[in-house]
Amino acid sequence: MANKPDLLDMTLEELEQVFVSMNEKPYRAKQLFKWLHKGTADFEQMTDLPQALKEKLKSGYKIGRLILLQRLASSDKRTVKYLYLLTDNNIIECVSMQYEYGMTLCLSTQVGCRMGCSFCASTTGGLARNLTAGEMLAQVLAVNSDLSEHNKPNINGLVLMGCGEPLDNYDNVVKFIKLVHDPLGLNIGYRNITLSTCGLVPKMYTLADEGLNINLAVSLHAPNDNIRRDIMKIAHAFGIEDVIKAARYYFDKTGRRVTFEYALISGINDRPEHAKELCRLLSGFPCHVNVIPLNEVKHLSRKRSSEDSIKAFIDILQSKGINVTRRREMGLDINGACGQLKAAYLEKERG
Ligand code: SF4
Repeated sequence: MANKPDLLDMTLEELEQVFVSMNEKPYRAKQLFKWLHKGTADFEQMTDLPQALKEKLKSGYKIGRLILLQRLASSDKRTVKYLYLLTDNNIIECVSMQYEYGMTLCLSTQVGCRMGCSFCASTTGGLARNLTAGEMLAQVLAVNSDLSEHNKPNINGLVLMGCGEPLDNYDNVVKFIKLVHDPLGLNIGYRNITLSTCGLVPKMYTLADEGLNINLAVSLHAPNDNIRRDIMKIAHAFGIEDVIKAARYYFDKTGRRVTFEYALISGINDRPEHAKELCRLLSGFPCHVNVIPLNEVKHLSRKRSSEDSIKAFIDILQSKGINVTRRREMGLDINGACGQLKAAYLEKERG
């Protein structure tokens, strides 16, 4: 079972190839694609497929499924964090967030992460493996099914900001984005999809040229290389000026606004001089800065900035005409930051 190809991982064209190889009509691919993307995981429920074809599919293919290990809803019920078991016993997490304009899912693109950001729980055990496009899609389908059970609207926006660095799993991530965008399936608009990167410069250029026109978020977290290298390993490979240059290229090429994520860490990157340096760095770039009060991770030493420092930092950016918002903190009571729920679960399991 485990080694059978996963139908969720296939594009419409790939499904057509499957049917051609089975001497079946290629139009069957559209029927199957629709069922799969509606979240139907049982061939028997695919009422417009002939029984003989269902049997062939059952014997040669699987429909990837995630097993729910834990579901934690925030006290206001607007944020729900899910922990899922994959077929190889790896664990991933994702979180749904209900806004005025719809339901957004923050999903994982890798099991673990090898980027080593010093404030992040996802990277503690390094990278276990990449997720397939089908496993990313399975997160959306599993959460949609849960939301329906709870009379909530389905996912209409995605942020690739959970565990993993999306651009470190480039091909699978691009395939996934095309799958969820397909009008025969979930039909999620590119404008409703945001990919977050810690700054893999060459891949930022590749993504800009991909023609997807999704939103780009760049985890900057520092106004200069010295501080960035202290908190983000990736900054040793790519300088901050090169990250900004790649982000400008992305904006010029796609017309999509770039957001810079800036987690304020007490005593590290949250002083007024850091805010002024950030303004100089971004001057003339029509971008957006998202200031994030750090979500502290128990076993990591980085601490959240004081409310006064957060306010002063934002005031300076605003006074220099930078478009800035403070990220709404959702789900703090359910280990909202990526990697935290999994870490807490594993800790409990190990006793
Ligand atoms: S913040 Fe993102 S890129 Fe950095 S270690 Fe965590 S998951 Fe990886």
